Amino acid sequence: MSAQSPRFRPILDQFAPYKPGKTPSAPGGRSFKLSSNESPFGPLPSVLKVIADAACNVNRYPDNGAAELTEAIAGHFRVPPSHVAVGCGSVGVTQQLLEAVGEPGAEVVYAWRSFEAYPYLSDLAGVTSVRVPLRDEAHDLAAMARAITGRTRLVFVCNPNNPTGTVVRRAELEEFLGQVPGDCLVALDEAYAEYVRDPGVPDGLDLYRDWPNLAVLRTFSKAYGLAGLRVGFLVGHEPVAAAVRKTMLTFTVNALAQAAAVASLEAEPELLERVDAVVSERNRVCDELRSQGWAVPPTEANFVWLRLGDDTADFAAACDRAGVSVRPYDGEGARVSIGEREANDAFLAVAKAYPRRG
Ligand SMILES: *Cc1c(COP(=O)(O)O)cnc(C)c1O
Repeated sequence: MSAQSPRFRPILDQFAPYKPGKTPSAPGGRSFKLSSNESPFGPLPSVLKVIADAACNVNRYPDNGAAELTEAIAGHFRVPPSHVAVGCGSVGVTQQLLEAVGEPGAEVVYAWRSFEAYPYLSDLAGVTSVRVPLRDEAHDLAAMARAITGRTRLVFVCNPNNPTGTVVRRAELEEFLGQVPGDCLVALDEAYAEYVRDPGVPDGLDLYRDWPNLAVLRTFSKAYGLAGLRVGFLVGHEPVAAAVRKTMLTFTVNALAQAAAVASLEAEPELLERVDAVVSERNRVCDELRSQGWAVPPTEANFVWLRLGDDTADFAAACDRAGVSVRPYDGEGARVSIGEREANDAFLAVAKAYPRRG
């Protein structure tokens, strides 16, 4: 037997091993998951029926071109089908994008802290990350423009930003886009677009028409409530969508996901009512937190951000004891999803009782 171990890419040593999500349970067995920005509502009966019907054919491969879903997305959002590319969640599409630009020496610019998938997928694709610190919990687009070099192939703008919930508005985004070289792609990650109520925030699906190097990422995981099925998509000009289709893992969007996504577009009015309910809960939670004395950055997403600094882990433990799981970022803060009223009340009770220092 050889003493040598198989050799892997050194970058893998930097990845923390996967931590299974724990479900805390409080005395009385109550538990609320406010850690993953999911929809608190179960699937609509109409969507569930389509999933069940599609399950009868799982001996067959899915449509690798996702033709029906692509047509449905194109029709729904009034864009050409050639501008649409799908993937295994928008995380999958993000990976496809990075694979499409990734070559030795390529750089990707994004705000930090932002979506956790950006650094991880960039590392995997062999692309060098350039992180630009948030300013007042929001993207610092001027600094991001300055961070772009001749090696930059991709810039992520997460709008609203995960985990802070802050937004960039139309004028600043357009000014930024005007500074980005045409051969550098900007990916506008709009995973939470449906929750935005600030009229100053542009709809990427309008904006991209004027910018050949702008692509929009959307997902069925949040407002559409299909996180467990994994489907997301990109809208961008033809060369961008074509490149992202080429890097898709074959058959990665499964048949149930494709059928459910089509059905969800048809059921959009019903789903958007649920989004309205979450938005009004978001407003209630923010008002209540502020009246408790917390500084809460303005959020346009289905979560709130508390900058707790060194108290972060302690605060998350207090939430755990009350059966509420939140998403702590050690030493920085906690992201708390907006759930059903009872869950939000359980979280607000912890926040109210928590001794705030400093
Ligand atoms: C949740 C989220 C996504 C969506 O991920 P899926 O892979 O579609 O489930 C994408 N971007 C951001 C910023 C998110 O928070």
